[in-house]
Amino acid sequence: MATNNADSLVEIRNVSKLFDLSQSAIDQLLGREAQPVRAVQNVDLTINRGDIMGIAGESGCGKTTLGKLLVKLYEPTEGRIMFDGRDMSELLREDQREFRERVQMIFQDPFESLNPRMTVFQSVVEPLKINDIGDGYQDRRERVVQVLNDVGLAPAEAYLNEFPKELSGGERQRVAIARALVVNPDFIVCDEPVSMLDVSIRAGVLNLMKELQDEYGLTYVFISHDLSLIRYMCDRTAIMYLGSIVEQGPTDDVVNNPKHPYTEALFDAVPEIEPGAQRRRANVTGEVPNPRNPPSGCRFHPRCAKIIPPEDWSGSQDAFRRGCNFKRRVQTDDIPVEEIAEEYAEQRRAVDAVLETGLSLELPDEHQIAGDGRGTVDIDSLDLPRQAENALRSATRDLLEGNEEDAMEQLDRMFNSICERQSPELRQSGDQVTACHLYGSSVANRETIAPDASD
Ligand code: SF4
Repeated sequence: MATNNADSLVEIRNVSKLFDLSQSAIDQLLGREAQPVRAVQNVDLTINRGDIMGIAGESGCGKTTLGKLLVKLYEPTEGRIMFDGRDMSELLREDQREFRERVQMIFQDPFESLNPRMTVFQSVVEPLKINDIGDGYQDRRERVVQVLNDVGLAPAEAYLNEFPKELSGGERQRVAIARALVVNPDFIVCDEPVSMLDVSIRAGVLNLMKELQDEYGLTYVFISHDLSLIRYMCDRTAIMYLGSIVEQGPTDDVVNNPKHPYTEALFDAVPEIEPGAQRRRANVTGEVPNPRNPPSGCRFHPRCAKIIPPEDWSGSQDAFRRGCNFKRRVQTDDIPVEEIAEEYAEQRRAVDAVLETGLSLELPDEHQIAGDGRGTVDIDSLDLPRQAENALRSATRDLLEGNEEDAMEQLDRMFNSICERQSPELRQSGDQVTACHLYGSSVANRETIAPDASD
């Protein structure tokens, strides 16, 4: 089937990949349905010919799974992937052979991707044999020699009979690149291609990959948690969080003018390359949630610095965020209510202590306000509307009396956000596409009421 975009080489349409679809023994015992891991969720992405597309995110965000879907190491559970206008799931046997030539993957660890018992020649010639390319031994040998020279292993003859253990890390990765290139592909997915290499040789391998892109007319996908690499290499970048793409666009725009609060936080945490520049630290809280049981609404909401208050909220956004965090901590039993109750005989003091603890956020120094550093916060320093403070105090009294249900009901009424209820759709925002209610039509102009909490 033809695609709509003549420049696109790969089109990913609404692709999801679920693992562990069947019920585990525990699921069966508890009589509950299987809880699959949604490693990739409703991903839409177009990769244009000749581009380097970066896919970035924290470890476990689904980027490697997406890479494996692109080279058909995995099949999508839902959705489809078009390669050069053809649905990858509908390739005939002959087309599959062509696909295996045109699409290659380079893995993170060259030591694992190369067979230790095969010489460099045997490793690099193998894809030619498998795909029945080349006219006999001599022809294939010439091709192997040429590609080894192309990847900087020159003179190639000196490397042909070496085994992986006799090579340096950089040389091994060059062999892995040669193995991918030898079949003259169009599209290469590179999964953390230099992360196992010594920092001193990374730039050399990356520059080589750029040169090879021109020479071989390649389209690349670079999967990396290393945002400096993404910034250096990629024309376009997609940011993944918990299996979904939350933002994508030209790399310069995504890096210099991130729209999604998660992208902002990711780049905040990257050390600046310029000497003397200050490293900013991300204004996010908590760890990446379990993909088996992801949060409702926007999956980033439990960590987001810009979670959106309801329209009638009259306090600061920071105070709202802290209230939401308090609610979550009550839900997950994360506030030591009993210990505090034992320490303070007087209820009024105990309520203050629970609130001071529950409203604090674990943030880097530059994002903290009075008291946060000690794991407690001065309530008076928060811009909490009277009604919200009353609700918090009343909910805390319920907690101290062991009445968690009533406490949650009050907190839910006061601290509820569209971010928690509705999953944001991807929407155009300038040259970027982002999935965040700050840029959704239903809450258009909300940007103005969600100030940067780091200000
Ligand atoms: S939708 Fe809400 S929680 Fe999600 S990133 Fe945007 S502001 Fe943050």
